[in-house]
Amino acid sequence: SSETIRSNSTPTGETVRNSSIPTSPQTISVDSQLPPKSQTPGKESPENDRFQGLLKKLPRGVDEAAAEQIMNEIVIQGDEVHWDDIAGLEVAKSALKETVVYPFLRPDLFMGLREPAKGMLLFGPPGTGKTMLARAVATESKSTFFAISASSLTSKFLGESEKLVRALFALARMLAPSIIFVDEIDSLLSARAGSGEHEATRRIKTEFLIQWSDLAKAAAGRESKGKDKERGDASRVLVLAATNLPWAIDEAARRRFVRRQYIPLPEGHVRKLQLKTLLSQQKHGLTEEDIDELVNLTEGFSGSDITALAKDAAMGPLRSVGDKLLSMSMDEIRPIEFQDFKASLSVIRPSVSKQGLKEYEDWARNFGERG
Ligand code: ADP
Repeated sequence: SSETIRSNSTPTGETVRNSSIPTSPQTISVDSQLPPKSQTPGKESPENDRFQGLLKKLPRGVDEAAAEQIMNEIVIQGDEVHWDDIAGLEVAKSALKETVVYPFLRPDLFMGLREPAKGMLLFGPPGTGKTMLARAVATESKSTFFAISASSLTSKFLGESEKLVRALFALARMLAPSIIFVDEIDSLLSARAGSGEHEATRRIKTEFLIQWSDLAKAAAGRESKGKDKERGDASRVLVLAATNLPWAIDEAARRRFVRRQYIPLPEGHVRKLQLKTLLSQQKHGLTEEDIDELVNLTEGFSGSDITALAKDAAMGPLRSVGDKLLSMSMDEIRPIEFQDFKASLSVIRPSVSKQGLKEYEDWARNFGERG
């Protein structure tokens, strides 16, 4: 999913970036699509002390510059995402609560047989809320949120990427509870990435898998206790990954995701809920029947298609007055009408085709959990 869509169209508003190391929940991002940031905390700040303290305690083998780079690219999502911001996806929300949120908040209850999974894959068509879910999980579990786009690891940071991967996992443990969210995981764990097509890509993939295994081992208590304690709480670090191309992930990597959650296109009642939420913030003249009609007309639309449609329709009243809008008062602008949606529907079309959808359904049947 694109960062543009994500940060511009959260239902609650704009993404705000901040320059200090925040208290949890926080987002640490090494996403190449984010604007460049220079966010080493102010020299005198308590955050800076904490930051410097953290760098001093890095385990051996972890590159300080790489750790600094990860810490420096901290992004706070000014508007946190909460469960209620996400329309539908009840099954996925329950699965995430059980796998991450409850174990992170009550680790004492989740030991032994209840030991939580160390990896979870969210797969499905683009724009269905996978990134929103990951952000909500971080908010609700009060976790440090490391958001990394796999394609940026394999392109922008090539060469430095192995060090970054090591630093990422080390910091996640030190700042636990942590979520390592890897968007576009397919580009990191595809069969192709391992085939030697690109030596550097292969090494990053290997390093990622090693770090991830180490995490699981440490969490299961198979590492010597003393060493482990110093390195942080491995049991409360989870790799949460998202992909629109689940079939590209190679089999060995796929099996590491004990849980694979299908994030499907929204059903009618979910589209209705989302449309109503989007319209609730606007002056509009749509009746209940109009909304039901819209629900029928948006069959096959993703959550992000629906957001795009509503945004375009909301422009209708402004388009109809042209230049005059410059001198009009807010009250003179007419409400958004059903006709605006009709007009927008000829422009905004579903981004997933029927055939494309079938591929997701098939993969979900073979390898996933539904919801
Ligand atoms: P993905 O990661 O699955 O590609 P995102 O979570 O980035 O999709 O969603 C993109 C945008 O689409 C969101 O910012 C939001 O505006 C809208 N959206 C998608 N799914 C939902 C949903 N279930 N509820 C509300 N909005 C949604």
